Amino acid sequence: MKKFEGIIINNLKNLQEMENNNIRICFAGVPAVILPLVSYMKKKNKKFNFSNGIYWTGGGGWKTLDGREINKNDFLKTIYEHFGIKKESWREAYMAAESNLWAVNCEGHYFHVPSPMYPFVLDDEMEPLLYGSEGRFAFLDPSANSYPGFIVTEDKVKLLDYCPSCDRPGPVLAPEITRMPGAEVRGCAAAMAKVISEMEE
Ligand SMILES: [Zn+2]
Repeated sequence: MKKFEGIIINNLKNLQEMENNNIRICFAGVPAVILPLVSYMKKKNKKFNFSNGIYWTGGGGWKTLDGREINKNDFLKTIYEHFGIKKESWREAYMAAESNLWAVNCEGHYFHVPSPMYPFVLDDEMEPLLYGSEGRFAFLDPSANSYPGFIVTEDKVKLLDYCPSCDRPGPVLAPEITRMPGAEVRGCAAAMAKVISEMEE
C-alpha cells in the first residue's frame, strides 16, 4: 500500500475536483490497481457519486497484485458502492494478443466481436461447432499482415450468433471466458500486476 499512497492521494484529489464540477468520467484501471484505492477510501470513509460515469477495466484479468482471484460481481458492487458507477456501465475489452481487433462488452456484458473478424468455437478435434456451443476460441483476422491471421487461442468461450442482451449486431461471446485446461494464465491485468509487484518501494 505504501508505494501507492502518493498516487492514491493525487487520484482522490482529482476525483473530488471532477465530482465537484459534475464532470462525467470514464474511470479506467485494471481491478488489481483499483483495489488499493478502494481500501484507502474505506479507511477514510470516502465515497463518490459518478452515477453517469463509465468504468473501463481495459484488457481484462481478474487477479489481485498477489495473484488471488477477484470475484467480478463483488468487485462491480464495490465500484457501485464507492464510485456510484452502475454495473451496466462497466466496459471491458477481450481479445487474443495475436489480434489487432477487440471485442468490447455491452451493458449485458456480452463481448461483441468486431465485424472484420470471423470467430469460431472448436471442439477437441479442432472442428468448428455451431453457434451456442462452448469450446476453444479461434478466429480469422484479415488485418494481420506479418503472419497468417488464422488464430487458435487457449481460451474457452461460448459463441452466440446474436446478443441476448442488446440489439447491436452479433456474433457475441458470453461473458464467462476461461482458459482451456492446462493453459498458462495470461491477460493484461496479470501483466500489470507483475510490473507493479516489481516496482521499487
Ligand atoms: Zn450486447
